[in-house]
Amino acid sequence: MVNEPVWKQLREEFDASGITLVAVSKTKPIEDITALHSLGQLDFGENYVQELIEKQAALPADIKWHFIGHLQSNKVKYIAPFVHLIHAVDSFRLLLEIEKQAAKNNRTIDVLLQLHVAEEETKFGMDEKEMIDCLDHYEAQAASMTHVRICGVMGMATNTEDEGKVLHDFQRIYAVFKNLSQSYFLGKKYFSICSIGMSGDYPQAIAAGGNMVRIGSLLFGERQYH
Ligand SMILES: *Cc1c(COP(=O)(O)O)cnc(C)c1O
Repeated sequence: MVNEPVWKQLREEFDASGITLVAVSKTKPIEDITALHSLGQLDFGENYVQELIEKQAALPADIKWHFIGHLQSNKVKYIAPFVHLIHAVDSFRLLLEIEKQAAKNNRTIDVLLQLHVAEEETKFGMDEKEMIDCLDHYEAQAASMTHVRICGVMGMATNTEDEGKVLHDFQRIYAVFKNLSQSYFLGKKYFSICSIGMSGDYPQAIAAGGNMVRIGSLLFGERQYH
């Protein structure tokens, strides 16, 4: 079931301020995606490769599929033919594999680098130092990496009721995004995406400067599993 009034309200608010709403449809049925698509939603996010390729094959071709989960290098080839944006690149090795698979498919694939700031051990992503190492490697080989385009940063806040802490985490992610845009991507207009915020914390993400939010349960209801 899709919550249409919530979708309308979010889109009105986001469209007015240039924020992209990614509707996170993981674990949700094809019919839910079709329902939102028919209202005009084109950006959808999925976390699992197998689920994504099944849905992509069954749904309209104008959908922009965002891969927002942890991506293993050996699975890049399955989504490389169609994926719109890979949000959670967490190593140079993965970047190299995306470059390779994008070239094979004669495409340029847009990606975000995932920054780890949350306090939980379980969350994926690079810390600032690892991200800088990754970008140094990338710069050194940029001439041969023309099929992968780094468009910004993605991150998650600590899972806590403390809204101040959540805002602080998002502000850190936004600050790194701004720093990188000055130090590595000066003049590169495509480096423009800060993907932060989910159903429970998107107001803080937007307050911190986020311009892409990934919302699942607010639109589709609570998930039964995962
Ligand atoms: C599941 C998921 C979301 C959406 O979470 P909700 O709380 O349902 O809005 C956003 N981002 C990532 C990376 C996710 O895995």
